[in-house]
Amino acid sequence: MSAPDTQESKLRADLVRVMRKMAANGLNKGASGNASVRFGGGMLITPSGLAPDLMDEQGIVHVAADGSTEPGALRPSSEWEMHWRILQQRSDVDAVVHCHSRHATILACCHRPIEPVHYMVSVTGGAEVPVAPYRIFGTPELADAVVATIGEGLACLMANHGQIALGHTLDHALAVAEEVEEQAAVYYGAQILGSPHVLSDQQMKDIFLRFGGYGQNR
Ligand SMILES: [Zn+2]
Repeated sequence: MSAPDTQESKLRADLVRVMRKMAANGLNKGASGNASVRFGGGMLITPSGLAPDLMDEQGIVHVAADGSTEPGALRPSSEWEMHWRILQQRSDVDAVVHCHSRHATILACCHRPIEPVHYMVSVTGGAEVPVAPYRIFGTPELADAVVATIGEGLACLMANHGQIALGHTLDHALAVAEEVEEQAAVYYGAQILGSPHVLSDQQMKDIFLRFGGYGQNR
């Protein structure tokens, strides 16, 4: 591997840090889950089958635009094609995070989208988090299903599998994934209590307008 430039080194370190944070925050267990970030006409992505505590910056894999990797590189995540299709389709995002967080996965196993019972679901860019149809992991068919379902949003559930979140940066994608898991947990709990009130389309439109003027960037 040629000597990485400063930007590449930073992104490799970011990928390791975000994977460890996902594990520390309970979004992932063992070697499941993966993350990628756009770089050099292709992407940098986590390696296949390595738990975050065994991952290091050198083990991060550069996948070129044609899907090739450098000689001697580790095998990229089995979901590399899903990451790359998203980055190709969505020029507005630069990072992708995928995990099997518990409540998101419970809903995904029941093919249940996260309806807007709490206004913070809007962090995912839509009024609800949809579910991509079931396809076998690591296949182009799963990549296609996820790309079609996520549309212009920042997240979707993946039937009988988990969730995927997009962002402008890896930290943004991780924040979206954390919110998806929180919203899934809230929705799951509300369903168990029974008959949760779902916010209306108009109420969610008002939320998006409100968020337009929220925060420090006025
Ligand atoms: Zn997975």
